[in-house]
Amino acid sequence: MSGAGYPGTMPRFLCDAMLGSLARWLRFFGYDTGFLGPELADDEVAERARGEGRWLLTRDHELAAVGPRTLLVRSEDVESQLVEVFGRLGLCPSAGLDGSRCSECNGELTAAGRDDVRELVPPYVLATAERFRRCGGCGRVYWPGTHTERILRTMAAIVQRLEASGGRS
Ligand SMILES: [Zn+2]
Repeated sequence: MSGAGYPGTMPRFLCDAMLGSLARWLRFFGYDTGFLGPELADDEVAERARGEGRWLLTRDHELAAVGPRTLLVRSEDVESQLVEVFGRLGLCPSAGLDGSRCSECNGELTAAGRDDVRELVPPYVLATAERFRRCGGCGRVYWPGTHTERILRTMAAIVQRLEASGGRS
């Protein structure tokens, strides 16, 4: 079973205001992940998660106590948080960006041609990048580059830690 390989069975998440980085990284891994700012009250956050059928990820003990599909994230740094969430939910993510979502807005990314992004990326990127993807939500353009290599290395390290911890119950 691969959590990332079967889109229909991938859990969806909602991160509370203290877990913005976690939300971005879950999106890199391809998980549909909402993020709520600090302006919402606890019961509104919980209601939103329930209404949208999402796992609520929070660092707030009181908020974690409100429903069955809530997970109190105990780790401090984002890499440990990912290992913790994947391990506790028995997920087996793969270290790749093919299925990733927009890290800014959680929108879906679709392949875009060079002509589609001509006005949107720097000239050297336009000339050298092998492929482009564009967010259907905010319009942001993504392409493979040095920044994605760094992200992929971190993703691989997280998957390795997950496997080493035997966190695939
Ligand atoms: Zn976006």
